[in-house]
Amino acid sequence: MTQLQEELRDIIKGTIDGLTSFVESECVPVEQKYREILENEAKLFGEDGRLVPEIREARDEIRKRSAKAGYWSMFAPQSIGGDELPAVAAVYIIEALYRKYGAGHLMIGFSNGFLTSPLMGSFVDGPSHMFAQASEAIKTDIVPSLMAGEKTTCFGATEPDAGSDLWNLKCKARKVGDEWVINGTKQWITNSPYADYAIVFAVTNDEKYAKHNIFESGITCFIVDTKQPGVDTNTIFPIMGHVSSDCGNVIMEDVKVKEEYVLGNVDQGLIAAMSGISEGRLGIASSMVGLAEWALDMSIQYAKERQTFGRPLADRQAIQWMLADSAIEIFHAKYATLRTAELIDEYPKTGRVPIKEISIAKCYAVDICQAVCDRAIQIHGGMGLS
Ligand SMILES: Cc1cc2nc3c(=O)[nH]c(=O)nc-3n(C[C@H](O)[C@H](O)[C@H](O)COP(=O)(O)OP(=O)(O)OC[C@H]3O[C@@H](n4cnc5c(N)ncnc54)[C@H](O)[C@@H]3O)c2cc1C
Repeated sequence: MTQLQEELRDIIKGTIDGLTSFVESECVPVEQKYREILENEAKLFGEDGRLVPEIREARDEIRKRSAKAGYWSMFAPQSIGGDELPAVAAVYIIEALYRKYGAGHLMIGFSNGFLTSPLMGSFVDGPSHMFAQASEAIKTDIVPSLMAGEKTTCFGATEPDAGSDLWNLKCKARKVGDEWVINGTKQWITNSPYADYAIVFAVTNDEKYAKHNIFESGITCFIVDTKQPGVDTNTIFPIMGHVSSDCGNVIMEDVKVKEEYVLGNVDQGLIAAMSGISEGRLGIASSMVGLAEWALDMSIQYAKERQTFGRPLADRQAIQWMLADSAIEIFHAKYATLRTAELIDEYPKTGRVPIKEISIAKCYAVDICQAVCDRAIQIHGGMGLS
């Protein structure tokens, strides 16, 4: 552990212990209660592609309880009432959660095509670092319900013609009196079927936008009430291997937003977008490390137990190589993610957001998680598919 990690040791350990107890008492029993529905996506999703009401309510309830217990907003900025745990702590906490519980728990983390967790708010559904720039009106009108886990958000940057290339946005906002009027379609938006507010990025200044300057981008970030006229969130995407997902469209036609509901400065919205995306990428890297560890732990256990041709699988060098490759990759991904988190935590001193390292850690952790899970499936033989 580095000095920073050493200083955070008690906070990290206390949070992991507390969160695990919370999961055992608040999430696991709910999973057991609804097991029949959770294991059958034909029962899990309604005809509209949304979760059936009882599962949705159960997730909402866990979120509110997690907020009360202090976990939902533990990474949110202190300026809006969060704990603002450092990025290094976030890596350890998220990793520990996914290492212990693994995949397939809709009441805990990623599962059934859902990217959101009811336990911990992130930039795609809750009070995130983007809200450090919140106006007084946003803090008064919107933040309290987000912090309490009563309402959720979604993050709307991507469009049909603009994904990697955010310099091709078609969504526009124009000022009419003291309001903004937004028109455009956001696509692939996580949590859009459930979000009460969409954080939407729209072009507000064509001249600045044409210059491709990230700091003065001509893009503005708005908080849009998804229940107001002109907003349609009814298109939900089924994703590979699943009946539905929590990703969909946010279609806006002449949607009005008060000027106080601009998040950050007008024409400087790309900074907020990058802050959200960076937070999300680090979270994904951490969860992928945890998932890979979960898969490796199970592989080691199974290799010791499973006998073929009179000896445990673990005795065979071909299996040992697979386990070793997985351990090597996890080690690299974990320490790349932790070092990246330290660079983020050093921002007040250095003034540098480590965008490059965040992208490397996320990309690498996802890649190795896939490789480790693939080896885990091989080691488990036919059982690997069950
Ligand atoms: C499950 C899921 C959840 C998502 N959630 C959200 C969300 O909450 N909010 C949100 O705003 N967006 C979300 N997205 C959208 C995501 O951010 C985009 O899919 C991503 O930015 C890529 O954009 P695209 O799909 O348009 O692909 P494209 O940009 O069209 O890219 C297609 C392929 O070309 C490659 N490529 C692109 N440009 C180049 C280049 N210059 N040189 C070489 N190769 C290139 C890409 O790497 C990719 O492989 C989500 C997507 C998924 C799959």
